[in-house]
Amino acid sequence: MQFVDSHTHLYSEAFNEDQDQVIRRALDAGVKSFYLPAIDSETTQAMYELEKRYPNEMHLMMGLHPTSVKPESYKAELAHVKNQLEKRDFCAVGEIGVDLYWDKSTCSLQQECFRTQIQWAKEKKMPIIIHCRDAFDEVFEVLEEEKSENLYGIFHCFTGTLEQAKRAISYNMKLGIGGVLTFKNGKIDQFIKEISIDHIVLETDSPYLSPKPFRGKRNESSYLIYIAQKLADIYNISLEKVAEKTTQNALSVFKKYK
Ligand SMILES: [Zn+2]
Repeated sequence: MQFVDSHTHLYSEAFNEDQDQVIRRALDAGVKSFYLPAIDSETTQAMYELEKRYPNEMHLMMGLHPTSVKPESYKAELAHVKNQLEKRDFCAVGEIGVDLYWDKSTCSLQQECFRTQIQWAKEKKMPIIIHCRDAFDEVFEVLEEEKSENLYGIFHCFTGTLEQAKRAISYNMKLGIGGVLTFKNGKIDQFIKEISIDHIVLETDSPYLSPKPFRGKRNESSYLIYIAQKLADIYNISLEKVAEKTTQNALSVFKKYK
């Protein structure tokens, strides 16, 4: 059985003390590949260092995270993303999107950066990884403008309604399902069965959003199994089937780049 963690920040400082053990535990649990979303220029070095040590397991994305979009620095940050995208291959443009939980004042600037990076992804026929927090309308507004057969990717940490899930899928997005699925008040467990598993990929978003029974603690990629098990229970299929399907789905998104 093999799993893919389609969204994990293993290069984060939260793993400074025990990064190798964390990766070892994940590999032992069957989580064999890791897709690492970028945040901003401050995380680039740590991502490269991790990739150097695990070249076959780590797959890097490049992008500017919406919470790092600041009026004084976004131009330099976007130039950094563009420069890196020109220099080498990445598996996706991400994570990008809109986050109105932390800061509403930069909403239109966040949308502008999201749009620009989507256009770069489309030119290069790369998938995008969307971060959306308290901002479904704002994210869908941009996706509606940019929809195209070259627009595809993953709606990471999906926490919306059934209607929003269907709309995300209509833009060629898979739904990234993580720890929230195991939360009592997470809501998505109520309707996810109505979405075909063909549209679902697994993720931890570690070090954030630990699944039950680790909720509130540091998350790590080996905990992906708890999310997979919950999905198996909901769909009433075997854990093996969940592994097979979600791995296939993730690889179909990331296929062009190693
Ligand atoms: Zn993330």
